[in-house]
Amino acid sequence: MTKTYAIAIDGPAGAGKSTIAKALAAELGFRYVDTGAIYRTVAYFLDLLGVSPKDVDGVERYIDELTIGIEYDENGKQHMLMNGMDVSDEIRTQDISQKASLVSAHPVVREVLLDMQRDVARKNNVIMDGRDIGTVVLPKADVKIFLTASVEVRAKRRYDELIARGQKAQLAQIQKEIEQRDYQDTHRPIAPLKMAKDSIKLDTSELDVSGVLAEMKRIIGEKLPL
Ligand code: C5P
Repeated sequence: MTKTYAIAIDGPAGAGKSTIAKALAAELGFRYVDTGAIYRTVAYFLDLLGVSPKDVDGVERYIDELTIGIEYDENGKQHMLMNGMDVSDEIRTQDISQKASLVSAHPVVREVLLDMQRDVARKNNVIMDGRDIGTVVLPKADVKIFLTASVEVRAKRRYDELIARGQKAQLAQIQKEIEQRDYQDTHRPIAPLKMAKDSIKLDTSELDVSGVLAEMKRIIGEKLPL
């Protein structure tokens, strides 16, 4: 099998991972894998069934009834299928963000999703973003970048994103929720959000999208023969 390349991007919510990874993937001709969307799909599925994201028994009982599909349209946009139904838009709410963070702490959920993520990377050149890509999912990734930004900047980015999508949002509330999610994601016992030892940290607080992209391309260019 020919060698495939993997770029792992980890970091907290709102650091700009998906915007940057999507743009880079288009430019490099890599497949962009948004792993947060996969956890969100699990959270949405359980939510529809009325299973609390904290209910260990409920999560274990119902996870097997979910078949997750990942498809890409002609523009390279990732679509999430929940038992065949496209739920890509439904999973993008603040409520599902919180529930995904709780659901993702269950070992059974992480185990099921691990194989799925590795499988995509085995077959494609990927830019994968998430919380544990460089540490757990793809520990041998060719490039690992940890994107971060101050919590104020991240909250404002999420706020702008939700408003642009026509959703109601309150900046202070979003910041509180991001802080809570940061705490949960960094303190869970399995695959917590942390920087891999061989990861390069990039703080995007003071940079705009083109600034981050330029810096990312410089870092990737030093590591990959592209
Ligand atoms: O990246 P996004 O905000 O869509 O992720 C939603 C939640 O999914 C995160 O707060 C995190 O708890 C979980 N997640 C994870 N591991 C990943 C990606 C996301 O635990 N690789």
